[in-house]
Amino acid sequence: MHSFESHIRNVPDFPKPGIVFKDITPLLQERFPEVIEAMSLGINWNEVDFVVGIESRGFILGAAMAQLKGKGFIPMRKKGKLPPPVIAETYTLEYGTDTLEMIKEERPARIVLVDDVLATGGTLRAAASLCMKNKLEVKAMSLLINLTFLNKFKEEGLPVHSVLNY
Ligand code: AMP
Repeated sequence: MHSFESHIRNVPDFPKPGIVFKDITPLLQERFPEVIEAMSLGINWNEVDFVVGIESRGFILGAAMAQLKGKGFIPMRKKGKLPPPVIAETYTLEYGTDTLEMIKEERPARIVLVDDVLATGGTLRAAASLCMKNKLEVKAMSLLINLTFLNKFKEEGLPVHSVLNY
């Protein structure tokens, strides 16, 4: 396990009882350039056109990765934030549903999908499906933290790169 781990704060019962929240803000403050480099390793950037970041911690990480690798950045946002034309994907949460949106693409492209934490995988699965609906081929998914005990992404052979695995 990376020395990054000591800069992640585990916050019990946030935002809801029973959730142990991984607070990455101390890590971003102390080691930001190295974190961005680590998240960018193991990806064949020659086959990537853009970085897609998921609101909102995926913006911080994904935008810095795009800058490091000389790629453009596409934001994927919560419902109602982006102006039309948008393309949307609704997915099921523990209670109710949530919707992700992105601006409708004119041309096909190849992308890397970025977020901070992979937990159950509901968000990342919906994000990948939205990209595919929007003519964006997901070449890799890059996470800072993978809570592997909560999802089956590895077993399913999905192209997931994560720096810290629990
Ligand atoms: P999931 O859809 O369950 O994989 O949840 C992923 C989204 O929720 C990510 O965008 C994370 O930012 C956030 N998230 C879920 N669980 C945690 C956790 N334990 N600590 C911090 N963020 C989390």
